[in-house]
Amino acid sequence: MTSIEFEPVPAIDADAPKPEPGTVVMKFGGTSVGDTEKLKDVARRLVVAREAGNRVVGVLSAMGHTTDELLDLARQISQRPHPRELDMLVSVGERISCALAAMAIFDLGHDAISLTGSQAGIVTDTVHGKAKIVEVRARRIHEALNQGKIVLVAGFQGVSTAFEVTTLGRGGTDLTAAALAAALGADACEIYTDVQGVYTADPRIVPSARKLHAVSYDEMLEMAASGAKVLQLRSVEFARNHGVKLHVRSTFSDADGTWITEEDERMLEKAMISGVTHTLEETLYRVDGVAAARLFAALAEAQVNVDTIVQTSAQIVFSAPVEDRVDAAAVLDGLGVSWSASDELGKVSVVGAGMKSHPGVAATTFSTLGELGIEPQVVTTSPIKIACHVGREDVERAVAALHEAFQLHRPEAMRADP
Ligand code: ADP
Ligand code: ASP
Ligand code: MG
Repeated sequence: MTSIEFEPVPAIDADAPKPEPGTVVMKFGGTSVGDTEKLKDVARRLVVAREAGNRVVGVLSAMGHTTDELLDLARQISQRPHPRELDMLVSVGERISCALAAMAIFDLGHDAISLTGSQAGIVTDTVHGKAKIVEVRARRIHEALNQGKIVLVAGFQGVSTAFEVTTLGRGGTDLTAAALAAALGADACEIYTDVQGVYTADPRIVPSARKLHAVSYDEMLEMAASGAKVLQLRSVEFARNHGVKLHVRSTFSDADGTWITEEDERMLEKAMISGVTHTLEETLYRVDGVAAARLFAALAEAQVNVDTIVQTSAQIVFSAPVEDRVDAAAVLDGLGVSWSASDELGKVSVVGAGMKSHPGVAATTFSTLGELGIEPQVVTTSPIKIACHVGREDVERAVAALHEAFQLHRPEAMRADP
């Protein structure tokens, strides 16, 4: 069983005027703002959108590997950095990108203003490191847009109800963008990144992977939950809950990308599988001698994001992100149970809305893995996903073989406009 925890739908527009038509939210990821030349290109793109008559909000990530470098600095200082101070530190990266982009926009003859998450009115709960957005107070952004300014909002961060700086979890700039698109009533939320869209598999691993023209919210949720990094899981949840259309596309071209929208007939009929995803960033835990209710209550209390859960009579097996390892270990030790953790497994998943109406997906999945001599250790399913935990060393060849077995390299897989 995969559990995707849905965020409560936050209030938006509590103190803001009515959304204005013609508002675009354009989010640029770390690679897209990797150096000052790229930042200048992003500034030009924002200016072009402004000159076309739009009210333009740019949401930027930290430059290149800045966030990783900041986290590394913290780890050099402390084994378990103080959560408040860690957020003070890592939120800086996005602020740098926005200030620099604003400078570039001034030089292009336009008016701009950079805002931190707090200044932009992104209000969160008090959980450092993976805060949830509880409200977006968009008044200041509206005022700046009304003055004709291009507004740059630092992604991945907010201010808590206790007035502290918080961050929204890795990849959280996607969430900032989706939340602002909802709050501002934007026509669409454009997610600019280093690939052309959402592919049938990670294009870095499967060169024959194809860009999908359209993916349903449910499929994208499953893909993001099972490792397709191209969109942060919570941003997809937010977009679905608020009906925000996401358009994932390349920073480096004008080509149309992938639209994430409600499911339509073509998604069910054209191809039964939309993609093969994988992750190496999960830890699998085996726990004996504890009631499930007690175990998962304690994990939830410690903000551990549990994914797969399998319960047999004596044992509970569950997975959680690698970054939750320290917290999960503390919970399990605290419960005084016997447990073990394995980092030697990865997870390969096949995802597709068409699975609901096409039998045989499980058969193809298992026979494909069987031919490679791979025996999954844990298998979990949802109506539109089959996920297999396999040895880490087997992950890449399993992804390639499943991609081939479901014929995802063929043009039909793309769901292009007829
Ligand atoms: P950004 O810095 O723009 O947020 P990310 O690194 O978070 O970009 O996400 C883009 C990366 O996601 C791509 O470079 C690609 O390697 C990876 N990726 C994994 N799975 C997929 C997929 N199914 N489709 C597209 N990209 C994917
Ligand atoms: N800079 C943050 C990260 O690397 C947020 C983001 O890029 O979306 O996770
Ligand atoms: Mg990202």
